[in-house]
Amino acid sequence: MSVKKNWIKPTITPHREGILNKFGRVPAKEYIEEIEEIPVKDLVSQFGSPLFVLSEKQLRSNIRRLKQAFETRYQPIVFGWSYKTNYLNAVCATLHQEGSWAEVVSLFEYEKARALGVPGNRILFNGPHKSKDTLALCVEEGARIHIDNMDELYLLEDVARIANKLVPVTLRLNFDTGFAEPWSRFGFNVESGQAIDAARRISNSQWLKLTGLHSHIGTFILEPNAYSAQVKIMCEFMESAEQQTGCIIDSLDIGGGFASRIDLQGVYVSTEQTTPSIDQYADAICTTLLRETVKRRAQNKPQPTLIIESGRAIIDDAEVLVSSVVSTRRLPNGKPAAVLDAGVNLLFTAFWYHHRVQPTRPLDGFAEDTVLYGPLCMNIDVVRQSIMIPPLQVGDQLIISPVGAYNNTQWLQFIEYRPNIVMINEEGQVSVIRQAENLSFMNQLESLPEHLNGNFKLD
Ligand SMILES: *Cc1c(COP(=O)(O)O)cnc(C)c1O
Repeated sequence: MSVKKNWIKPTITPHREGILNKFGRVPAKEYIEEIEEIPVKDLVSQFGSPLFVLSEKQLRSNIRRLKQAFETRYQPIVFGWSYKTNYLNAVCATLHQEGSWAEVVSLFEYEKARALGVPGNRILFNGPHKSKDTLALCVEEGARIHIDNMDELYLLEDVARIANKLVPVTLRLNFDTGFAEPWSRFGFNVESGQAIDAARRISNSQWLKLTGLHSHIGTFILEPNAYSAQVKIMCEFMESAEQQTGCIIDSLDIGGGFASRIDLQGVYVSTEQTTPSIDQYADAICTTLLRETVKRRAQNKPQPTLIIESGRAIIDDAEVLVSSVVSTRRLPNGKPAAVLDAGVNLLFTAFWYHHRVQPTRPLDGFAEDTVLYGPLCMNIDVVRQSIMIPPLQVGDQLIISPVGAYNNTQWLQFIEYRPNIVMINEEGQVSVIRQAENLSFMNQLESLPEHLNGNFKLD
């Protein structure tokens, strides 16, 4: 039996005993019995299955590693935690304790950050939907507003005029880095001249002041050079906006998008092997930024604060999903299949990740190409279309990972209740950070018109 002291990053392990692969001879068995020294079977007996399990230690270590990679190369730096990646309060609070600001894209996320105690001026407000009331709240509380489009610019100007305040704003830019497909639906386009027009419009306003630039070039960006190109374009825009409008830019926000270590569907090279390290991203970004701001330093202009809104790369490997096999069968084509109690309802990323799946006991027999289904009455509920694994039995637990990014926010309350989420703290104590749903929770917001209450004709 293996005793694992640390959080184990699970790996995909095709079990073909005795056959050589690129790792040499495959170890006879690979399985995880414990998560941070807590037996999986204890977790399941106490908190049920399926069960999300977060590691506070891993989360803190991830954000510290990211911070260190950037701070040793460039300063000043600010991290904004991307709420939509995982907005469980315990996750956000951990990251705020580590010094991250909040990056939000809706009133709901903004209110969540405020309720946790994050002051308005430590909240970066992105996204294409900010109502007049929301903007008024942001202006009142000093939130950092990232303007997405012309209508929003006019609306904000109106709000600022009513509040009788000069509001500093950040302009969201979009452009072609030559790497990732440009996300032209957010922000102002640089190549077409739309962005510089918006900068001029702001400089002509009595109520708005341009102080920051933002862009987010996409998610799961596997090429650090995409960020070099991004930073170069943003710095060039900063120089021309300052020259043409007299503004002073004090922050450059490069968004998020660093990849996590997991294979993607439809990508036939293993991204698990090729995902750049945080140091590689930091190097590409900071080297370019230092080079592009040499002149500024010579002119004694302020060094812009670099803001990073990394989500996925910080949280993904800090959370796993424990699930149980509820039935097994052999499909007509001879392929073995297992139905798990967790499916795409809890695992939105199953649509594009090949999640790692690891048993919690040594599995006997030969690995076979197996399908893992979720519990939903729906054909698309597939956790893994194809995985080499020995025969599974009802009651077996499987650990699915990484699941920290975009699952606890994009999950569906569809057919099943959503399960408990626990976090293991650095002392090894387990707390429930979100309770399993139940009928009274589900019914809380519904009400039944009087005439529909009873009187059912069911004979
Ligand atoms: C989603 C998002 C992020 C986080 O992206 P990741 O790919 O999770 O790192 C950061 N900034 C903005 C504006 C976003 O929309």
